[in-house]
Amino acid sequence: MRVAFIGLGNMGGGMAVNQAKAGRQVAAFDLSAQALARAGEGGCTPAASVAEAVAGADVVVTMLPAGPHVRAVYAGEVLPNAPKSALLIDCSTIDVESARAVAEQAKAQGFRFADAPVSGGTAAADAGTLAFMVGCDEADFAAVEAALQPMARAVIRAGDHGAGQAAKICNNMVLGVSMIGVCEAIALAEKLGLDPERFFEIASKSSGQCWSITSYYPWPGPVEAAPSNRGYAGGFATAMMLKDLKLAQQAAAAAGAAAPMGAQAEGLYALFERLGYGTKDFSGILQMLRGRLEDLEGEARSRPSA
Ligand code: NAD
Repeated sequence: MRVAFIGLGNMGGGMAVNQAKAGRQVAAFDLSAQALARAGEGGCTPAASVAEAVAGADVVVTMLPAGPHVRAVYAGEVLPNAPKSALLIDCSTIDVESARAVAEQAKAQGFRFADAPVSGGTAAADAGTLAFMVGCDEADFAAVEAALQPMARAVIRAGDHGAGQAAKICNNMVLGVSMIGVCEAIALAEKLGLDPERFFEIASKSSGQCWSITSYYPWPGPVEAAPSNRGYAGGFATAMMLKDLKLAQQAAAAAGAAAPMGAQAEGLYALFERLGYGTKDFSGILQMLRGRLEDLEGEARSRPSA
């Protein structure tokens, strides 16, 4: 299988290498020479342009920053240069409207297209354990699943074009809202003299239980792998969460849906980012809600000061 991979950043770099590791011929392109060189070291063949990468491809995968990049790359470079037989898969997180517009253009020109955003961060991209949420014609799903397999722990069809992006922003809106709820509860527990670690033991077995508690507790200690144990470095950047919450609000406005908790979460993450913490993990918002931003600068595994 010949794969063209466009966009070799934090996510796409590892994903393209996993395609090569699976024995596929991967023609890779990125505007960044550094990203291109890294993909080359990982077994991909660096191309000089999108046009060169997609010529002769069976599958084209794109992993680009946002909607405008995806619209421009497909209209200007992929659609005019890829063979009509190529299966086109966009894995970027973008607005539902752009995903549907690109799908329509691609289909009008005789291509098969899927929006397939991912859940899982850079570690999952490198390990080949991403979860893909796919919007595509039902008849194309088996081919999409086979194409994504070397990068995936799960590939789930959400529905028709745009449904993958819809699933992604709805899921991340739940996550953004639930994380803030958990952080508020921890801040309140602390003020009430309840040890946040003891609160974890109780809430993780009670009706407040959720992923933000059991897999990602924002207070250091109880969940070993959580970013709270390494000074909120790495993980899922606040700027990325904010991007997804903005997409959810745009989609809610366009569709006439009310999402007031999502709007609150967007506002709080926008504030946290503006305070200078856009690159910190999104669970670090606990320290803003405690009024202890200085605790974000702490050493890995250090406990927030009470
Ligand atoms: P990134 O900025 O690291 O990578 C994007 C890459 O696209 C860059 O290397 C850039 O040079 C390249 N690019 C931009 N325009 C291009 C063009 N015209 N032609 C070729 N290359 C071009 O971003 P990322 O972290 O890899 O994220 C990519 C997508 O995945 C985003 O939509 C993001 O929301 C989504 N996502 C990211 C994460 C994460 O944890 N980083 C998790 C899930 C989803």
